[in-house]
Amino acid sequence: MEAILKAALTQIKDSSLVLEEDYSDKKRFEKAIEMVLTPQKIIKGKVKVKGKNFQAYRVEHNDARGPFKGGIRFHHQASLDEAQALATLMSLKCAVAGIPYGGGKGIVIVDPAKLSQEELKILSQEYARLITPFIGPWRDVPAPDVNTDGQIMAWMLETYEKETGQQAPATFTGKPIELGGSQGRTEATGQGGVYVLEAYIKAKGIRKNGVTIAIQGFGNVGFYFAKIASAAGYKVVAVSDSSGGIYDKKGLNIDKLSTSKEKYGNFSEVAKKEKRQFVTNEELLELPVTILVPAALENAINKENMEKISAEVVFEMANGPTDSEADHYLNEKGVDVLPDILCNSGGVTVSYFEWVQNLNGYYWTMEKVNEELKRTITKAFNDIDKIKTSKIISYRKAANYLALKRIIDAMMLRGRV
Ligand code: NAD
Repeated sequence: MEAILKAALTQIKDSSLVLEEDYSDKKRFEKAIEMVLTPQKIIKGKVKVKGKNFQAYRVEHNDARGPFKGGIRFHHQASLDEAQALATLMSLKCAVAGIPYGGGKGIVIVDPAKLSQEELKILSQEYARLITPFIGPWRDVPAPDVNTDGQIMAWMLETYEKETGQQAPATFTGKPIELGGSQGRTEATGQGGVYVLEAYIKAKGIRKNGVTIAIQGFGNVGFYFAKIASAAGYKVVAVSDSSGGIYDKKGLNIDKLSTSKEKYGNFSEVAKKEKRQFVTNEELLELPVTILVPAALENAINKENMEKISAEVVFEMANGPTDSEADHYLNEKGVDVLPDILCNSGGVTVSYFEWVQNLNGYYWTMEKVNEELKRTITKAFNDIDKIKTSKIISYRKAANYLALKRIIDAMMLRGRV
């Protein structure tokens, strides 16, 4: 079993120990946990592009709370274990955010960089054809993930609608605005993370103007988190990409830095050309800041560097950026680690808003999207914070507890267990 799947299943088993005392029928509870450890369905097939076959899957994890929801990934190193792990985490993430979905994940084992645009289109259409009998607005709602985007969702939607003979834009989210995509989806994950930050400092009584932030990663998530946090009055002192980062104790101008990065290619070049203070990615993680935001890689904080982390709080904007040993160590040290299934749930929440708008045929303004996002995320944080305080457990355990409880209660109400 691959490490990513093992870690996802271990999280569920660990949190089930806290949850167990809420259920008097232990056998029924154990059966429910076993069901959450196993996906409901795995769709398998080959996708043919100009005579070449690529292995493809769609994992549907658990739909007790609503249709399956999750991205489609095109990657040559993707695997069924990885898809199962990510589908399981999507079930937990949707439950934590309180949005009515279960988890799903699709993968095609392919290196899209080796395909022409025409081949990529065929691959997308063939994959959509493979999963058409299993997806739909009230069944399973895919979205973009690594190496897939709005254009690919548009090709897939067209294939699905041709196959089923009906308009059904709510079958896919992450679509271009012209085809029913939502305002605010591009910024949603970073924006959601900043709403978690606002709720956290309010709960802890921390003054905003004393907070410093270091962010690893300057892609979709890291960039918008940096830009929005900085506009909200937080001092972002360091950001990085894969070449390293820029550090300034006095605070960075994110828009200016973004322009410089576009001009020179990466932060290492920006540092040289503009004579800025350069930090490696290792150094960035060790900076003495209030909040460290890993927004790039899995396992960025691990047993090799955990003792050097000086931040007071970690906000997991990437998926799985803290390994289990580091997580345990930081908890013992009293560092709050705000888990990925809460911090980066803004993305899937605005995907949910896209689905709601498609089903209604009525479209929201950016203001309305952000107002609803703030309400949803703040409630998720407050629910978790209450559990953390009453049960004296970490934010991660509290989030997993809440998610599992919501899924298991839905399964029990349906009489599945
Ligand atoms: P992205 O590809 O847009 O950006 C990734 C960033 O990480 C880039 O700035 C890249 O330079 C940097 N990076 C790559 N290798 C690095 C290294 N070795 N050291 C430091 N930085 C490095 O990706 P993204 O969409 O911003 O996603 C980032 C993370 O957030 C991923 O874990 C992803 O699964 C997660 N996530 C994304 C979304 C979303 O809506 N985009 C939603 C939920 C979770």
